[in-house]
Amino acid sequence: MSKKMIAIDGPSGAGKSTTAKILARRLNYKYIDTGAMYRAVTLQALQKNIDFSAKKEIVNLANKLDIDFSFPDAEGKVKVYLEGKEVSDELRTAEVDKNVSEIASIPKVREIMLIKQRELAKTDSVVMDGRDIGSRVLPEADLKIYLTANLTTRAERRKEELHNRGEKLDLEKVKCDLNERDKKDQNRDHSPLTKAEDAIEVTTDNKTPQEVVEEICRLLEEEEEDG
Ligand code: C5P
Repeated sequence: MSKKMIAIDGPSGAGKSTTAKILARRLNYKYIDTGAMYRAVTLQALQKNIDFSAKKEIVNLANKLDIDFSFPDAEGKVKVYLEGKEVSDELRTAEVDKNVSEIASIPKVREIMLIKQRELAKTDSVVMDGRDIGSRVLPEADLKIYLTANLTTRAERRKEELHNRGEKLDLEKVKCDLNERDKKDQNRDHSPLTKAEDAIEVTTDNKTPQEVVEEICRLLEEEEEDG
């Protein structure tokens, strides 16, 4: 089987990582969560008390980023390791959510991540999710999906995720934070969140993750038939 690349982009809470993990498990591809890479740089900057205006130090963190992902397990769970230590939960706190877009808007950080992301996609077939995968990181991907859902659905999902991790925020606050993050991601100068011209839009409102995965598998089959 030749090496394949599936790119999944879309706004926060659209269900990208849930979908991508199940899809990767189903196809036996590696899942690469590019959001986790920006989150990891953000987490390190917060832990080391580095001021976000100290661009040189942030860029240094990005350069030294030592991140790895496990293959999805039977439940579709993927572990993220930073310098060999598992940080899957620490990467997804409300504090990291709040700060990650600022780190992700630094052009030099994006350049470094782009190289790392392409490197990670070299060896295995991958499902990669993010904001600029179809448009910039893997423009030659075999299948590009733009996953989306309305703001309330997305906020409800994010609220539940935070809740399950012990962070209790009300829906309006989560909605507001999510909307703000999307705006920053859509309006930044360098590789903003955008739907690639050849991406297929898939909505996830009122669909189970399995239904979304089925839909993407059908699209992949069609792509393979068209060849
Ligand atoms: O996908 P996730 O919500 O984990 O992404 C966290 C943040 O990382 C996004 O809000 C965005 O600022 C940034 N990001 C990005 N480009 C990507 C993936 C994520 O700018 N390819």
